[in-house]
Amino acid sequence: MDYDVIIIGGGPSGITAAIYASRARLKTLVLESFSVAGQAIITDSIENYPGFPDGVNGFELVSRFKKQAEKFGTIVKASHVKGIKEYKDRGHRGWKVVSEKEVSTTLSLIIASGARPKKLGVPGEDTLQGRGVSYCATCDGALYKDKDIVVVGGGDTAVEEALFLTRFGRKVSLVHRRDRLRATKILQERLLSNKKISFLWESEAIGILGEKKVEGLRVRNVKGGGESDVACDGVFIFVGYVPNTGLVKGIVKLDTSGYILTDQDMNTSKNGIFACGDSRKKLLRQVVTACGDGATAAFSAQQYVEELKGIAYK
Ligand code: NAP
Repeated sequence: MDYDVIIIGGGPSGITAAIYASRARLKTLVLESFSVAGQAIITDSIENYPGFPDGVNGFELVSRFKKQAEKFGTIVKASHVKGIKEYKDRGHRGWKVVSEKEVSTTLSLIIASGARPKKLGVPGEDTLQGRGVSYCATCDGALYKDKDIVVVGGGDTAVEEALFLTRFGRKVSLVHRRDRLRATKILQERLLSNKKISFLWESEAIGILGEKKVEGLRVRNVKGGGESDVACDGVFIFVGYVPNTGLVKGIVKLDTSGYILTDQDMNTSKNGIFACGDSRKKLLRQVVTACGDGATAAFSAQQYVEELKGIAYK
């Protein structure tokens, strides 16, 4: 086999798994895809990762993680994984991983493929994506200097990103389907006291308006059913995530939303495949919990590989 462990995904959970796997002297490859940017990487400031009282830029943090993994021998490659297949080599059970650039074999796999932004699924969303519809404030916020921006959603991401967008926008309106926010209280306090923010409570987005570029958002009141249009130049959508688990569908057990089911040691339903981070079913999706998952997944993979090689410490 080419590797002891291949980790699919180069976000905080995958790279932490790589740090632990390399220090255990497993031959470790991380395959990451740039077609979907990791959620941590596109976060302007992460305030709840211990050790950074003034916050840390997500890209900077993950870059530091990678440097650390590479220092211990991890190979990190940017190559989108297209498929995985069971593979046997001289009696050893393993996996063949087919990526854009190469085919590699491994004794074990760690799935750290994260999640991508969920779409609203309303008219205009797809046709106006990149022309006023965005899922990334860090990437696109600066395009909306002195413009009117609408943010859809009520969780941590929507609130953090709405606050970030006040740096650019003339006005930021938050559209949420309930009368209160799901987000962490400290973020709510900041949002509610920010003068640039206005709220459309109990409102669901039902369509994005505009021909060539976004001109507004159509909303419906969830109580009365009345519809109205909010004029704006940009609509930022933060209504949760969908897991990137298409690769392992049919191989490991998923829940009804597509998240990978694991036990507390990050074992999936398939021997030799472990999962960590946002792509697995769990209570709290944070950088710090992703790192914890990654460490556990690597330790479980180490035990599995050493057992296969007959060198387990018992
Ligand atoms: P989330 O917590 O799932 O919240 C999604 C929000 O979008 C909810 O308010 C939900 O409304 C709303 N929503 C969902 N579908 C909708 C639809 N079709 N139309 C309108 N609104 C819709 O997602 P998230 O905010 O992206 O956060 C994901 C995870 O990352 C969470 O675990 C979060 O804590 C974590 N995160 C943490 C931080 C941080 O710690 N600083 C930052 C970002 C993300 P309802 O409330 O009515 O369900």
